[in-house]
Amino acid sequence: MAAAPGPALIRLAVRCAPGAAERVLAELLVLAPNGVEEDEGPGWVEYAVYGAPGEMPELGSVEALADDAPIEVRTEEVPDDWSDRWRDFHEPVWIADRVLIRPSWVEADRRPEVEVVTDPGQAFGTGAHPTTRMCVEMLLDAADAGEARGTLADLGTGSGVLAITATKLGFGPVVAVDSEPAALEAASANAAANGVELEVARVNLREQVPPLAETVVANLTAPLLKGVASLLAPHPDWTPRRLLCSGLLVHEADDVAAAFEAVGLEVQGRRQSGDWAAIGFRA
Ligand code: SAH
Repeated sequence: MAAAPGPALIRLAVRCAPGAAERVLAELLVLAPNGVEEDEGPGWVEYAVYGAPGEMPELGSVEALADDAPIEVRTEEVPDDWSDRWRDFHEPVWIADRVLIRPSWVEADRRPEVEVVTDPGQAFGTGAHPTTRMCVEMLLDAADAGEARGTLADLGTGSGVLAITATKLGFGPVVAVDSEPAALEAASANAAANGVELEVARVNLREQVPPLAETVVANLTAPLLKGVASLLAPHPDWTPRRLLCSGLLVHEADDVAAAFEAVGLEVQGRRQSGDWAAIGFRA
């Protein structure tokens, strides 16, 4: 008797020229915050998301980019080994030559200052994304200033990579929040695998005020960051000592800066990586 077929899985791929890649990725991550697969070849970059038939995101905002850059969208049914594919594109990542974020199935060839082992499951956060890197760099700056201590909240924790890095740098207690149960599961499992204590909380940052913390790190999109700023407005007691924001595009940075300045924070520094921007604020 033939084995029962597993649930069908669809791979939705968006291919574009390298020059359009950052914009396509930014749009896709809004639609698929749990992460996208990335592949590239001569003259093209391809991003793919996986899901059950009927549960794939509508690509309207991605396809709209085709007005000024050619974009090719393909869907295909994938074979049963799909869960292994995530592993194929999760490589060890070094940040500032000090932090190593690696999958459990790849050993490090030298000792980092901070090592984080992640198995991202279905959650976003292998450390490879420029927005995550910039957050880690800002956390390292805090550590170098002797300020990696006190409570920290990681807003949109995904696989927990920033929360775990922060704990290992000396912050604590650390709370990791996300709206996706799969992210909270991944963050808890990764915290245990790294031997660190992490409190996880399910919070929808579109409508709920995040937990209080002296340091807040938030790798989210610009609209969500601005939403968080407006949620804070009626809570002047909340102001964190330091807020590290990432996930915004360069052209969105002034708006995000203004949104948090309006709630009493001051821009301390900005970073840029390709089209992505990050902003560090202080009270
Ligand atoms: N901090 C990780 C993951 C960033 S991806 C890293 O830097 O690698 C952004 C995360 O925000 C995702 O895990 C997504 O589930 C979460 N997120 C998206 N919208 C949210 C919302 N409205 N409330 C809470 N979390 C949200």
